[in-house]
Order: sequence, then C-alpha cells, then structure tokens
Amino acid sequence: MKRMSIQKRISVTMRGFAILKQYCPGLAQGKAVYELIHSIQPFISVWFTAQIMNEISEQRRIKTVLVYVLGVVLTNFICAVLKSMINRICNEKESQMWSWFGKIFSDKQMSLDFVDLENAAIQHRRQEAEENLYMFGNGLAQLVWGTSALVRASVNILASLVMTVSLFVSKSRNKVIDNPVWILIVLICITSGGLSNSKATVKENEVFMKWCRDTVWFNRAAMFFGYELYMNPEKAKDVRIYRQNTIAEKVLDQLIQHDRENQTDLFKMSIYPAIAYIVIGLANAVCYLFVAVKALFGAFGVGSIVQYVAVLSRLGEGLQELMYILSDNEVYCTHLQKLFEYLDIPNNMYQGSLTIEKRDDNEYYVEFKDVSFKYPDTDIYVLRHVNLKLKVGEKLAVVGMNGSGKTTFIKLMCRLYDPTEGEILLNGVNIQKYDYDEYMSIFSVVFQDFRLFSFTLGQNVSASVAYDSEKARECLKKAGFDKRLESMPNDLETFLYKDFDTDGVEISGGEAQKIALARALYKDAPFIILDEPTAALDPLSEYEVYSKFNEIAGDKTAIYISHRLASCRFCDKIAVFHAGEVVQKGTHEELLADSKGKYYELWNAQAQYYTTQNQVSV
Ligand code: ADP
Repeated sequence: MKRMSIQKRISVTMRGFAILKQYCPGLAQGKAVYELIHSIQPFISVWFTAQIMNEISEQRRIKTVLVYVLGVVLTNFICAVLKSMINRICNEKESQMWSWFGKIFSDKQMSLDFVDLENAAIQHRRQEAEENLYMFGNGLAQLVWGTSALVRASVNILASLVMTVSLFVSKSRNKVIDNPVWILIVLICITSGGLSNSKATVKENEVFMKWCRDTVWFNRAAMFFGYELYMNPEKAKDVRIYRQNTIAEKVLDQLIQHDRENQTDLFKMSIYPAIAYIVIGLANAVCYLFVAVKALFGAFGVGSIVQYVAVLSRLGEGLQELMYILSDNEVYCTHLQKLFEYLDIPNNMYQGSLTIEKRDDNEYYVEFKDVSFKYPDTDIYVLRHVNLKLKVGEKLAVVGMNGSGKTTFIKLMCRLYDPTEGEILLNGVNIQKYDYDEYMSIFSVVFQDFRLFSFTLGQNVSASVAYDSEKARECLKKAGFDKRLESMPNDLETFLYKDFDTDGVEISGGEAQKIALARALYKDAPFIILDEPTAALDPLSEYEVYSKFNEIAGDKTAIYISHRLASCRFCDKIAVFHAGEVVQKGTHEELLADSKGKYYELWNAQAQYYTTQNQVSV
C-alpha cells in the first residue's frame, strides 16, 4: 500500500478538524482541555509527594510539609472539579457524535445531483465511506480520540523532561554514574522502547488494514444475510415463500469460515505488541537501575527517587504514545480520505440563478423543444425529439405503454435530469438558468413510487413540522381521505407506521396514494403532476379521483400520466408516448377518430379489459 506523505496527512487531518468543527463544534477542543488537565494532574501530585518525602526525610519542617499537603489537595480538587464539568459537556457531545457523523452523509446525499443518486459507482463510494463510519467512525471519531492522545503524549513528554532535568544534572559521590554518557544511555533506552512500540503498531496496522479490506465485503454480506433479509418485513415475505433462507444459510457458513481465517490475522496482530513489551520492559529496567544507583551514591533524596521513577516511565509512555499517534494518524487519514473522496463529488448540473417570477395569475408555461434523452451510462435514447407545449391551466394527459418514457418525461420537466439534446423552457427561458430550488417550488408531483414517512399524518401532508391543520384537512378531503381521517385515533396527529409510535397506523397502498395526493395539493404549486395516481386505488376510489380531477387541479396546469386511457378522457389534451416519442397529440375524440393511430389501438386493446370500468367512468 502506498504511504501517504506527511504534507498530505497534515492537510487531511486539518480538513478532518474543519469538518469536526462544523458538525460537532467544541468536541475536539473540549476533549483536548480535559486531557490537558487529566495528564498534568499526576505530575503535580508526584511533584508534591516528592517534596513532602524529601522534607520528611531531611529537614522535617512541619509548616513546609503542611503547605505541600495543602497544595496537593487543592490542586487535585480544582482539577477534579474542572474535569467533571468538562467531562459532562464532552460526554453529551460525544454521545451525539455518531448522529452528527450520519448527518454528514445525509447532507451530501441531499446536495448531490439527482442523477448521482442513481449512479452505482458514486453510491458505492458512499457505501465505502459509510462502512468506514460504522467501523472506525470514518476517521473522524479516531481524530477526536487521537486529539486526546496527542495532548496526553505531549504533556507526558514535556512535563517529564522538565521534571527529569535535575536527575541528570545532580551530582553524586560516584564519578562513573555522573558521566554524561548515562544521559545518552537512558534516553536511548526510553526512545527504543517507544520505537519498538511504534514498529509493532505499524505492523499491527498493516495486518489490520488487510483484515479490514477483506472484512468490508463480508460485513456487508453478513449484515444482509444475517439481519436485513429476516428483519425487513417486506423482504421476509419473499424469504418465507421462496425459502431463500437456504441461500442465506450457505453464505453465512462461508462467513463463519472467513471469520476462522481472520483468527490467524488477529493472532498476528497480538504477537507484535508482545515483542514490543519485552523491549520496553528491558529499557525500563535500565532506567530504574540508573535512578537507584544515583540515589545510592547520594545524588538526591528518597522523595526524588519516587519522582524520577514515576516521571521516567511517563516519558517512555509519552514517547510510545507519540509514535503510536503518528502511525495511527496514517490509518485514520486513509479513512478520512475515503470520506473526502465522497464529499468531493462535484455537482455537474448547471446551477442557474434566475428567480422564478411569482405570478398570481399562474401564467407559467413549459415547453419541450426537440428534447432527446438517454440515461447516464446507457446508449439507448428513452426520449426522442419530444416537442410539447403546456399552456397555463391546461390539463395534459400523458399516455402510453409501460416503458414508453412517460415518467422520464416528468423527471426531465422537474429537472431531476438534464436533456441529452434539446431544451426545456419555462416562460421562454431555459430551465437550467433558474435557481434550482426556485424552479422546484413550482411543481407538486405524486410519483409512482412516492414515499411517505413515519411522521404524523399532518406532517406528511404539509411536509413540515408546524402546519395549517385546516388546509391539511381540506387537502385530505379533496384527495378522498376524509372518511379514513375520521377513524384516525389522533386525527392529524396520528403517526403513520409504527417506527416512532407504537400506536402509529399502518395504511394501505390506496390510502397512501391519497395522502400523497393531499401532500401535492397542500404544496399548492402552479403545476401539479400525477404519475399513475390511481394505480393502487380500487376502481371506485379511482373513479372518485379522476372524476374530481378538475376540481382537484383547479386552475393549475396539470399533467396526468396513466396507462389507463379511460381515466384520461377528461383532459384538454392527450399526448401519446410510444418508444420514447410523442406519436400523437389531441383530444380524446380527435385521437380516437384516427383509426390507424396508436391511441385507437391502445383504446381498443384496453376496452376489452376495462369494459366495466369504462361504464363507470363514462
Ligand atoms: P414509463 O413511465 O412510460 O413506464 P419510464 O420513463 O419509466 O417509462 O422508462 C422509459 C425507459 O427508460 C424504460 O426502458 C426504462 O427501463 C428506462 N429507465 C427508466 N429509469 C431508468 C434509469 N434510472 N436508468 C436507466 N434506464 C432507465
């Protein structure tokens, strides 16, 4: 694996801090301050203890001893109070940290071009970064913990150096032990302890990274086969009917086997630190011996022995930790980089800045000018040379067989994709030139595969937390949901589904469609688009919706997509899509008059199946 340069690591780490500052402000700083106090505290205690012991073993002045005792108690008390306060704040922030890390992803997903949400390569990048999140906090959690470790190591090294200066400069009765070469030997021992630990960590990390690379896929599979497949009720139906658990069990067997192979990696990971601990033990022995011999020859008192021994081991620990931090930094920088690769995916859609003129008369018209379109990374045109103009207040029906391009036409109109060729105009101006959010604000769409959320009914309809309940009620009534609303236990405050409330209600596909329709009406946008709005409704509810369609749509410009021709007869204009082209345009009567046309063919084909329904609708 290619090592990351120091400059790169610094820039990645700094960017990591910037993200932490944005999403978890104060967390890394709080942890750093906590660790500063926490790591200095033992040095203060050791220093006071050494002074007390020296005083007792030499001059025995009771007043001085009392001052030292008071000093140690007071500083420990202040440190404890400060630590407890900071800890409380940090714990609170740290417990929320994972949710905030999750928000980094939702923010990015929301800002991506819609086309990228369907781009498998890009979503794979998200998945990779997200898997890192759950395994390693995406590098960000490691950065938080690494900050604490860095402060701890720095304090340990600096304070130890300050408190060991006197060890090396104090003179004993023995010239040999006073020789400056001992300073070198002790420092070499301490450093080699630290180095061996760092080497062990690097080796350990190499094995760990390999293990992680292997494990990511298996974790994903284990999650799917061991959990998702059984827990998700939608999937559980098919799993039971087709007994797909037999496949799952086979894969799980493989996973267990893989886990066994992992055990060897885990063993390798533990052998390196073991070797390092032997080196550290030997190095410590040399240091302790040096302090003991120097004290033996009268260089300092008993209290100072305690100080030097404690402080030398802290110096060793500090160096070890610093080395560890440096190698750990490389590990989490690679995780961070994965996150940044995902966050840096650019928006390629042209973002205009024109505002949409707010018109009380709803005088908006949309025009497709010779629009052709193929989905990204595909070679087939799913729309070809579409020319259509929608006048204000017009009711347009878009009909055609499945796969003829009706939904794609709507997606282009809502600028979820840009045309491959041609242009779409709003009041004569290319829609790309408008501010995207402004442009979206003029559309209310009920997509075929719309989604409702586990919020209250009122929040679902209004798409906001606070809403106008009268308006929500009115829209639900227009959508034909009024009777069902009466039976909702908490009226508009009833939760849909049971994710947030055990009293939440499960709703049928047809009821969901009515709520989605009410949501579109609540938005009160000048354009209302209904993509197969009655697909999940029973024939009577379907009749109800489209017989009231003119009332529902009011003076808005409306587009009604359906493959059931009978339900489109009330529209002013019908556009017939076939294989991505608009093959016919006109009123129902005009189109039916052309016995060679697609509409005539479709009408007659459907008439056989929908005779009863036609009677209802006519
Ligand atoms: P309709 O709404 O008339 O049923 P669509 O507009 O959904 O038709 O689909 C038109 C064609 O585009 C179909 O051949 C479909 O397979 C293809 N298609 C739809 N969505 C995508 C997509 N995200 N990526 C690639 N092809 C797609």
